[in-house]
Amino acid sequence: AHLDRIAAVEPAVHAFLHVSDEDALATAADVDARRAHGEQLHPLAGVPIAVKDVVVTKGVPTTAGSKILEGWVPPYDATLVERIKAAGLPILGKTNMDEFAMGSSTEHSAYGNTHNPWDLDRIPGGSGGGSAAAVGAYEAPLAIGTDTGGSIRQPAAVTGTVGVKPTYGSVSRYGLIALASSLDQAGPVTRTVLDSALLHELIGGHDPRDSTSIAEPLPDLVGAARLGALGDLSGVRVGVITELQGEGYQAGVLARFHESLELLQRAGAEVVEVSCPHFTYALAAYYLILPAEASSNLAKFDGMRFGLRVEPSEGPVTAERVMAATRGQGFGDEVKRRIILGTYALSAGYYDAYYGSAQKVRTLIQRDFAAAFAQADVLVSPTAPTTAFKLGEKLDDPLAMYLNDVATIPANLAGVPGLSLPAGLSDDGLPVGFQVLAPAKADDRLYRVGAALE
Ligand code: GLN
Repeated sequence: AHLDRIAAVEPAVHAFLHVSDEDALATAADVDARRAHGEQLHPLAGVPIAVKDVVVTKGVPTTAGSKILEGWVPPYDATLVERIKAAGLPILGKTNMDEFAMGSSTEHSAYGNTHNPWDLDRIPGGSGGGSAAAVGAYEAPLAIGTDTGGSIRQPAAVTGTVGVKPTYGSVSRYGLIALASSLDQAGPVTRTVLDSALLHELIGGHDPRDSTSIAEPLPDLVGAARLGALGDLSGVRVGVITELQGEGYQAGVLARFHESLELLQRAGAEVVEVSCPHFTYALAAYYLILPAEASSNLAKFDGMRFGLRVEPSEGPVTAERVMAATRGQGFGDEVKRRIILGTYALSAGYYDAYYGSAQKVRTLIQRDFAAAFAQADVLVSPTAPTTAFKLGEKLDDPLAMYLNDVATIPANLAGVPGLSLPAGLSDDGLPVGFQVLAPAKADDRLYRVGAALE
């Protein structure tokens, strides 16, 4: 049924870069046969899933939305893909994204736009717009995204879906094509909070192949979602972040946000206001730290090891000239912009002024979170300042595009988990996201509060 739905709506939505119909049908048939034999299977066995194209999949093309990886077929599976396969979820295919996960609209994909299923003239968010649009358009009930500065939560917000960025280190990064290694986390995109909890438990937990993986079991996420669904939040303190509302936020977004706060109060939660004064600098710090790490991570795309190789059209064919020609043609403008910003921020003489300062701001943001979590069990804000904007509207203005992430970036800088869930429609008829943040390793709180609101 999902493959039929994909065939019907893909011409309009373009959420997928690759559809694996045969593999998906084979897995589904295998799961049916095992079930018929009375085998005890994972609760998600047989439930189809779409995977963001930044996650490597054995034998299936993986491009990260870039021309430089066109034609590359990975020889191995990411840990999270291994776990999905072992549990018997048919993988429907790979979803569209901004090139190397840089962007908030999926317009930086080298393979064309994805359209928001709510309004095809609008962006589906980014960088994981393909995963969110696939779930929002009923092409897939579950999807995997990655979130370095908001790329799971913001697309979820603007497509009316649920998206979760887990605690840094709780889902293995083995087999993710790295954007910024100290910020990247993979997580679920689904239609319900309980579905996200089930998927998060499946893909999460310790992995010795990721050196930053937390060597502890996950908290009981599914149990927390079931508890939350009973609708009683007595004793839960909810902190509204002063700095993440007001100026720059669309009126309809704020109206839905305040209604959700009332729902939380009605469920028995205590709502308090908390200040995180350094969040004002989070965006600036992020756009130094991310390009610095990205410029280093992307150095491996040199025309020698993976995908595209371009030889200079004239003159000698030296290694350096092949690298220059390959990177010049293979990378898009946004990727080049960030490589230039990153190498500049890391260069001798500027390192302390830019990268060093940004790291200090990062510490101040972590302290803001620590102080806020002393006053509240979870923190909340709108996920994104506006609903989905029009395709093309912010494409020529990188700063306007970056501003979409003001509310999501602090969680990545501090490594804390965050969830976005639908909070109704704004005055323009488009979905609004409500964000819940919890302390590191307390992802269960996201699911309890999220499920209570659903
Ligand atoms: N939009 C942000 C950026 O462009 C977030 C990216 C992400 O989370 N992958 O960096």
